[in-house]
Amino acid sequence: MAAGEPDGGTGHPGAPGGGAYPGEPDGFERLWTPHRMVYIGGQDKPADDTGPRCPFCRAPTQKDAESLVVARGTHAYVILNLYPYNPGHLMVLPYRHVAGYTELTPEETVEVAQLTQTAIRVLTAVSAPHGFNLGMNQGAVAGAGIAAHLHQHVVPRWGGDANFLPIIGRTKALPELLGDTRARLAAAWPAPADDLTRG
Ligand SMILES: [Zn+2]
Repeated sequence: MAAGEPDGGTGHPGAPGGGAYPGEPDGFERLWTPHRMVYIGGQDKPADDTGPRCPFCRAPTQKDAESLVVARGTHAYVILNLYPYNPGHLMVLPYRHVAGYTELTPEETVEVAQLTQTAIRVLTAVSAPHGFNLGMNQGAVAGAGIAAHLHQHVVPRWGGDANFLPIIGRTKALPELLGDTRARLAAAWPAPADDLTRG
């Protein structure tokens, strides 16, 4: 999952110094429903997400800037969500095409966890979110956009962010903003030797 900011990245609604949108609490409950943003209208969802046609298998074979890959590990990698729930919405996933969390090897399990921790550290350093949502949707019934290839969402959250998502989610400028976001996060990502999570 992934993100771009309408202001170039330094400000977020509700963030210190950010341009908060005016408004009053509306009393609606906010639901955690990132899967609804994964494929807006379903128009871009691949008809066949198995094997060679899986976008999560294909992404690592492309250049990082083209596929929005932020960081690569040995067994897993980090990619920006093309349909972000929030700016900086990342996904951590194994290179291997497996659907279930229990199918991960011990090495994959550890690296997915370590990359998730690093993702939180990098996002905190770059954009100072107020909180995070972490999670995996296993199976289409649970909301997974690409159910065949396991992926863990890392979604930064800011106070009031639910109010502006529908706005940025439909802007034509989003692809460029995503590229900017990817470059910023990749630049902030620690080199393996500097990454304390790798010992
Ligand atoms: Zn795959």
